[in-house]
Amino acid sequence: MEKHEMLYQHVVGLLNKRGVTIDDIADLVIFLQRDYIHGLTRAEAAKNVEIVLQKREVQNAIMTGIQLDMLAEKGGLTEPLQTIVADDEGLYGVDEIMALSIVNVYGSIGFTNYGYIDKVKPGVLAKLNAHEPGIIHTFLDDLVGATAAAAASRLAHAHPELEDDEAIYQDQ
Ligand code: MG
Repeated sequence: MEKHEMLYQHVVGLLNKRGVTIDDIADLVIFLQRDYIHGLTRAEAAKNVEIVLQKREVQNAIMTGIQLDMLAEKGGLTEPLQTIVADDEGLYGVDEIMALSIVNVYGSIGFTNYGYIDKVKPGVLAKLNAHEPGIIHTFLDDLVGATAAAAASRLAHAHPELEDDEAIYQDQ
């Protein structure tokens, strides 16, 4: 297997291990695009998620964030970072900054998509934000939301007849 394909499989495996499937992210993409791309299928949404997950900067962000979540679950970070990450402190913000490296991949529509989905927290994002005892998804929720936002942006660019209207609408 090529290194590129190995990294992709590794990242998908990490996401699955942390309770997130490609279909979960595809459902977020459909949530973001349902008013703009009628008849968008889960298969088409999932294909776009897979393409986003092939990007090296996306893989790097996901690997790094999940590693920090897992270390925090084991109490493996030094204080005060351990408590900050474990408590998902609102003013920390590095999780959102890391997510922006994913959102950036397909241009500015990604920013509005990410901001919106991070606020509404549909689907798997609600589960990741449940803050169940012993489970830490401080980074993962942002990484998953950003991956969905990037895939939705890619779809918008693939449907240029919708792109202008969407940009105007979403900037309001
Ligand atoms: Mg977070």
